[in-house]
Amino acid sequence: MIEQTAERIRLLPRYLFAEIDKKVKAAQDKGVDVIKLGIGDPDTPTPGFIINKMQQEVARPENHGYPPDEGLKEFREAVAEYYERRHGVKLDPGREILPLIGSKEGIAHLSFCFTELGDNNLVPDPGYPVYGISTFFAGGSSQLMPLLKGNGFLPDFHLIPVEAARRGKLMFLNYPNNPTGAIASREFFKEAVDFAVEHDIIIAHDAAYSEIAFDDYRPLSFLEVEGAKGVGVEFGSLSKTFNMSGWRIGYAVGNAEVVEALYRFKTNVDSGLFKAIQSTGAEILTGPDMEPFVKELRQVYQERRNVVVNSLQEAGWPIEPPKATFYVWAPVPVGYTSQEFVAELLEKTGVVVTPGRGFGKHGEGYFRIALTVSKERLKEAMARIKDAVSFR
Ligand code: PLP
Repeated sequence: MIEQTAERIRLLPRYLFAEIDKKVKAAQDKGVDVIKLGIGDPDTPTPGFIINKMQQEVARPENHGYPPDEGLKEFREAVAEYYERRHGVKLDPGREILPLIGSKEGIAHLSFCFTELGDNNLVPDPGYPVYGISTFFAGGSSQLMPLLKGNGFLPDFHLIPVEAARRGKLMFLNYPNNPTGAIASREFFKEAVDFAVEHDIIIAHDAAYSEIAFDDYRPLSFLEVEGAKGVGVEFGSLSKTFNMSGWRIGYAVGNAEVVEALYRFKTNVDSGLFKAIQSTGAEILTGPDMEPFVKELRQVYQERRNVVVNSLQEAGWPIEPPKATFYVWAPVPVGYTSQEFVAELLEKTGVVVTPGRGFGKHGEGYFRIALTVSKERLKEAMARIKDAVSFR
């Protein structure tokens, strides 16, 4: 790193997966057929109805200039229609919805809008790393909220120290949850709203996996809970729902003042999303093709989940099938750290999974399997794992 590098870059945590990446490369060089269950990026293509619409939109010259800072009205109205249809939540497209270049962008920028030097953000651990890193970039510190099995991988608000709550600015929540696959109930969200009101904290609920759910379970929006719009926003994404992770389209919805702050920040650091993508997004959320596509996608992940969970259970793993997300979160056998187990698994089987420690210190003792390869490849991976290791 050159000496001019700013501290905020120097102090970034070391890339935890670098060592595993090296081992993967070495195994592949030796000719091992490596099966990668590490990264959670949808493996099936963006569906044809979306590609077709995008092709038309790309060809329209009026889409080629800078988009309006607040996003296309058409897309904001489509998000409002989707929220009302799916969640029964009414949103004002003029004040309560902001298009994002993927939800990650908005999540990261939110910290800059509300976190002053020395402030605390309440950050789930294990969790999506952007919550903690953006807090750090903005000069704040993270008060970790452990997500433990005993509490259904939900934070226990009673355990947050009073002083940390007093200095708290933002609370990040994420259900359905990456990496644990856990889900949140209405009661939990209500408790979160009450906590936020009591301590004057803004809630940022990350709902990136809101449509990836199984067995007739349909995740709630945080905004369905009374009082939620008074204290926070929800982030949504088209990445996982429509196999569009490379397209970069998401949104923030909810509290008008929080949305306004994010809007003000964004107008100074980016110039919004390609209009063709926003028009396509509008059609996706309001058109007739959404439901059948998502239904099929859920079925695909559900079958994959069943393959993994059944195999791990047969090999002695004490796990339950997750009700949502495309992740399976499983404990490592006794005597290993998560990194040791992942390294040994790769060596013995050629299967790559993610060590729980990569999601924070409370992720230690677990590993995450992403269901983003075909059922056949997953069966192959599970057969290798069952041959080589068992939970005990
Ligand atoms: N939130 C969570 C929990 C995620 O796992 C991801 C992506 O992996 C994101 C947000 C970012 O999604 P997007 O593609 O909308 O930026």
